[in-house]
Amino acid sequence: MSCQSLSCVGGGLQGQPRRLPALPFAVGLLGGRRMGIFAKMKWQSSDDLGPHPAGHRDRHRDLFLARLARAPSLRSMTGPFLPLPLPATRTAATARLAAFLPRAGLAYAARRNEDLPGHPHVSGLSPYLRHRLLTEAEVIDATLRAHPQGAEKFLAEVWWRTYWKGWLERRPGIWSAYRLGLTAALNRVQTESGLRQQWQAACEGTTGIDGFDHWAQELVATGYLHNHARMWFASIWIFTLRLPWELGADFFLRHLIDGDPASNTLSWRWVGGLHTPGKTYAATADNIARNTNGRFHPTGLARSCPPLPMPPHPAPRAMPQSDALYPGLPTALMLHEEDLAGDGFPDLPKDTPLMFLVTTPRRSTLAINPLVTDFVEQALNDTAHRLAQPDAPRFTDASLEPLADHLAAQGFAQLATPYAPIGPTAAALQRLAPLLDARGIRLARLLRMHDAEAWPHATHGFFRFREAVMAS
Ligand SMILES: Cc1cc2nc3c(=O)[nH]c(=O)nc-3n(C[C@H](O)[C@H](O)[C@H](O)COP(=O)(O)OP(=O)(O)OC[C@H]3O[C@@H](n4cnc5c(N)ncnc54)[C@H](O)[C@@H]3O)c2cc1C
Repeated sequence: MSCQSLSCVGGGLQGQPRRLPALPFAVGLLGGRRMGIFAKMKWQSSDDLGPHPAGHRDRHRDLFLARLARAPSLRSMTGPFLPLPLPATRTAATARLAAFLPRAGLAYAARRNEDLPGHPHVSGLSPYLRHRLLTEAEVIDATLRAHPQGAEKFLAEVWWRTYWKGWLERRPGIWSAYRLGLTAALNRVQTESGLRQQWQAACEGTTGIDGFDHWAQELVATGYLHNHARMWFASIWIFTLRLPWELGADFFLRHLIDGDPASNTLSWRWVGGLHTPGKTYAATADNIARNTNGRFHPTGLARSCPPLPMPPHPAPRAMPQSDALYPGLPTALMLHEEDLAGDGFPDLPKDTPLMFLVTTPRRSTLAINPLVTDFVEQALNDTAHRLAQPDAPRFTDASLEPLADHLAAQGFAQLATPYAPIGPTAAALQRLAPLLDARGIRLARLLRMHDAEAWPHATHGFFRFREAVMAS
């Protein structure tokens, strides 16, 4: 038996689970899929994807088109460089990677900080990496093939994502504290009219702060922001507007197509001085003007950016382990938005029935930008077609009992699923496990080798992590 990119343990039902030897990180960029023709199962309507206020989607599209018509800089966002929103297919993801690779070396290192219309100097791969239509291992492997040397900057950025995931995974209390802080801030918004008005102005992009207002509207209209725009925006939100950072992180999580519990929460904390003790990120007018080619030159930005009050970091918990996968059991495969590559299950028969768990609406308690839900919807469709099961059923975290009943009725004894890092999907899996257990069904959460090998190094700062993972 082998296990290419998901770490799994195999073994007989009666015997002790046996840990399989670790295989290299990377899989081929266009490596062969292992899935074949799958049995058809009952289709659940996409209405199960969660509440979608009637007309919301249309209103959003109208707003987007109106904004495009008004704002020349947004019109150019749909130009030749980074067509937004990106098509949510693996074919588009690999094509985008291939198109970007020639620029991943010195060109990226020299100009990646520039926030220009069309984003010509960055990859735009984040929506694909976020949902693992492309895996980090694939991007790293392809980059190293194209640039055996000289792409360290780009590779380091890709590793930042893995670092944040590993760091949060080992400190789940940080995510819970963020959610509690967000609830408290949303309660304040209900009762403090001044705060509510400021928050609304920040989200609508009507503060009068040059650049900031553009980024708020660009984010809502496109589902994407350049990394530096995210840093400037978060810094102005926290230190100039003095709004609770959790409201800003939530605004990003609702609108970024790549919105990710780890990268987003921890980046906001990093800007506010909650990650590296004593260190904050201060947005300055000169830096903004220089890196936007003079498009923006805000005035009145906070001169002093003291760190937000910070309790000590919790001690890291033990590394999560991959569950055992018992090859002999009748098994279904469940994919979710954390990992839609659909590879890495060579121990499962080709006709393993497929299903999906959908948790995208749970990124926030407020409404999620339809650009985000549409991207995930399209990505699920693409994955279902790639795995030759276009009718694979979908369940939400509100339909976990029906999911468990469905598996039991079909006679499954095991549900295999990619390990979901901290966030709404992991929470749903945690609630699903006892429901399955009560029906005699095992849940096998399979951790990718990339994560299993890298996360143990996410103990301190990024630079120590980078030394460990990039040297190996
Ligand atoms: C306040 C704030 C919030 C953020 N929220 C998110 C988020 O929710 N989801 C998310 O994926 N990234 C987030 N980032 C990180 C970063 O801004 C985006 O990953 C990046 O802008 C995506 O654009 P790109 O694909 O063109 O990046 P590129 O520069 O081309 O980088 C390639 C890939 O490396 C990864 N990457 C690059 N920079 C970072 C970084 N600083 N941290 C983590 N991964 C990185 C991404 O997967 C990205 O696709 C946030 C940064 C800040 C400052």
